[in-house]
Amino acid sequence: MKEAETRTLPGEFQLIRDYFVPLQSPAFAGVVLGIGDDAAVLAVPRTQQLLTTVDTLVEGIHFTASDDPFRLGQKALLVNLSDIAAMGGKPCWYLLSLSLPSDTSLTWIEAFVAGLREASERFGVTVVGGNTTGSKAGRTIGITLFGLVGQGRALTRAGSEPGDRILVTGTIGDAALALAMRQGGLSLAGGEDLAFLQQRLDRPDPRVGLGLAIADAMVVHGMMDVSDGLVADLGHLCAASGVGAQLYAEKVPFSPAARRQLEQNPDLLPLLLTGGEDYELLCTASPGALALLATLADEAGVPLTEIGEITASGDVVVTLENKPLPLDRGGWAHF
Ligand code: ADP
Ligand code: MG
Repeated sequence: MKEAETRTLPGEFQLIRDYFVPLQSPAFAGVVLGIGDDAAVLAVPRTQQLLTTVDTLVEGIHFTASDDPFRLGQKALLVNLSDIAAMGGKPCWYLLSLSLPSDTSLTWIEAFVAGLREASERFGVTVVGGNTTGSKAGRTIGITLFGLVGQGRALTRAGSEPGDRILVTGTIGDAALALAMRQGGLSLAGGEDLAFLQQRLDRPDPRVGLGLAIADAMVVHGMMDVSDGLVADLGHLCAASGVGAQLYAEKVPFSPAARRQLEQNPDLLPLLLTGGEDYELLCTASPGALALLATLADEAGVPLTEIGEITASGDVVVTLENKPLPLDRGGWAHF
């Protein structure tokens, strides 16, 4: 039997001293001053620009009270890493903002910090500060991540041109399937497939290495990460460039697990294309750049698939085997 947690939360400063200070990597590049003062001091090399992004996970919206805190710690950082990857940057430092109800257990904190530590070490980033408050309405986890990119080298959503090819990394729709199942609406077959799909939802795989290689090679026109659903995010990329897109649904890469679900239920296709949380890179490049891109993806060990092309019109048109594919969901929106 699991022992009941008897340790209550210590004061804010003891929490910082016991858990967040030890989470810092010692002597980390660029950290002039880390946790402990009113602000951290970070050194940005003269040749670089600073990238910054924030993502917040809210109990009741992004996770539930009973969700595994280790995975939450990982995921809070991984989704931010994906944003830095999407700009072609090198992630470096982060701030951790936590709002915690007073009945939060130390066991929860320890597992949460262990998850953060795992992802931090795997991607070579460190915490440099944060904020800790109480909460009367569940836990909130905010991470602000800073990264570096060469002067003028950041890859934005803008810059796509008609005739560009559209490419996406990894596979699309796995997380959407897992989420639909977890939220009760969908029942999926196959134990192993289930575990794979859940893991794609819980543990995104930010494409940091490939993002850096793509920025280095200056080989794409536009880039972003897919978090709100492939179709919606392609729409965002097009809007930023003032172009349209033709997306071929039959070319979109699905995992073997997602394929098996799709074979049993072809009506799942719109969900795969519009559900969110893929955390894959979406980019556009001229046809002449595709060979170099394929080499970079190979070297990074990341699948990269051509799924469509940029058009001059302002719409995103999705077809399946040359027939228009009706999609009723445009992607995730909070309000
Ligand atoms: P201030 O009141 O000046 O904002 P705080 O008392 O909030 O400072 O924080 C003290 C130090 O601890 C700061 O350096 C801050 O960055 C750090 N800190 C606070 N909360 C966290 C946290 N959750 N994770 C990491 N560092 C934290
Ligand atoms: Mg202060």
